[in-house]
Amino acid sequence: MPSVLPNLIGGEAVVSPGGDTVPVHNPSTGEVLAETPLGTPADVDRAVAAAGAAFHPWSRTSATRRTEILFKYKQLLDAGFEDLARLVVRENGKTFPEAQGDVRRGIEVVEFACGRNHLLKGESLPQLADGIDGVTTLEPLGVCAGITPFNFPAMVPMWMFPLAIACGNTFVLKPSEKVPLTAIRLAELFAEAGLPVGVLNIVHGGREVVDALCVHPGIAAISFVGSSAVAKHVYTLGTANGKRVQAAGGAKNVLLVMPDAEPDSTLRAIMGAAYGCAGQRCMAGSVVMGVGDSADTIRDRIAGAIDGMKLLPTHERDDSDMGPVIDGTARDRLFAAIGSAVDEGASLVRDGRENLPDSDGFFVGPTLLDHVAIDMQVSRSELFGPVLSLSRPGTLDQAIEWINSTGYGNGAVIFTASGAAARQFARGVQCGMVGVNVGIPAPMSVFSFSGWNTSFYGDLHVQGMEGIRFYTRQKVVFSRWDDSYVRHQGW
Ligand code: NAD
Repeated sequence: MPSVLPNLIGGEAVVSPGGDTVPVHNPSTGEVLAETPLGTPADVDRAVAAAGAAFHPWSRTSATRRTEILFKYKQLLDAGFEDLARLVVRENGKTFPEAQGDVRRGIEVVEFACGRNHLLKGESLPQLADGIDGVTTLEPLGVCAGITPFNFPAMVPMWMFPLAIACGNTFVLKPSEKVPLTAIRLAELFAEAGLPVGVLNIVHGGREVVDALCVHPGIAAISFVGSSAVAKHVYTLGTANGKRVQAAGGAKNVLLVMPDAEPDSTLRAIMGAAYGCAGQRCMAGSVVMGVGDSADTIRDRIAGAIDGMKLLPTHERDDSDMGPVIDGTARDRLFAAIGSAVDEGASLVRDGRENLPDSDGFFVGPTLLDHVAIDMQVSRSELFGPVLSLSRPGTLDQAIEWINSTGYGNGAVIFTASGAAARQFARGVQCGMVGVNVGIPAPMSVFSFSGWNTSFYGDLHVQGMEGIRFYTRQKVVFSRWDDSYVRHQGW
């Protein structure tokens, strides 16, 4: 019988009083690894109380001590790197190299956070007026909450809590109920690094816990990453309850191939963008567009590359090119989306419903659809799986217009040898992350991740300097210490 996971509150493993649970699967086999409790508002109250009690001492802990703990955390993450990646493989189904990438990107945020003493320095201007100096300080907000999706069990939580905590806040994390195990291990390692009790807490659950976090008076700020509908809901509910909210949503990212694109690196980049992590990335390339002859050429080359791919259970084989999707619901949804696209008039070049591994896991093969019109449902909705559509705009301008019509705004990519085409593309697309001959303009810890439109609700984006600004508020202190104060003492 798989065990029910406890919450982590005030340094203790606390069993949720709510009785309902959801299974955590190994997506490669369908095996149930654990049960995630669907927590209640009472769990949120306890966690916020613990985080609230820890805030005063933590926000006054010296800069040196906080940095020491962050460096120790980074050391422990490096030492546990392989084990963490294996855990990601087991609960998420990524291939081992993909899981290593997930953990590595998360560790890079901790590295960034280790620079907190420099990042959190305020500004000063002496002698604003006679005897008056001005100083700004960046102050923590209080208790912050994080709500995360299933697709990056390590990286996405680490976009949030290391920076929030480095800035002096305390934190309540609600990981995806589908992949809670990595988050628990990340918190255990932070505690081992010397993080005081109550600074980082975990509450498991689904919608009820999310809504309780959004309305809780003890929470100052919420970071959310997940689908656009839920991002909008969390932003609306959280801000209506007076919280600062950053909410990153879903996407429909386009890869545009111009006739002068370098063939081999373009193909490699497209395969990685479309089928890496089984297409379950908010930066996944979901539509490839080919201008002119490039459409037929790239279709044939992608089909050839698909034929060479190995789709295998990832927990026992490190040579799998692609793993399963997260669960049976995702698989069934993707199978249905492929069927609907064909009903709408798309042609199937490779069908991911066929030739699947003999396993109880949740596999969808790499799929390629051709002759996909921009107004078909498959072009407009996020599929979040290894299904790539090929569309054929007549010109670069038309491609930009099609890209801008999706309503999303995470990423768009162009493959070309023309600097002028790349420049026109980068300036024209209405999205936050642009790739030029780069398949996935992925978020990196030193840059903030800039989704636009329905891919992001809020002002300050996750990680990088916007992350620091999100988790702090500015105080301005003007002091008058003119000479009369000394004279008055007779010194
Ligand atoms: P999801 O929206 O279903 O779940 C995300 C979180 O919200 C989970 O913790 C879940 O428990 C909670 N949740 C789900 N439904 C809810 C509801 N109705 N009310 C309140 N809370 C709810 O997303 P997912 O399936 O876990 O992850 C995939 C999605 O995340 C994709 O849309 C993907 O594009 C997006 N994503 C975005 C980014 C980004 O940076 N923009 C990064 C990773 C994933």
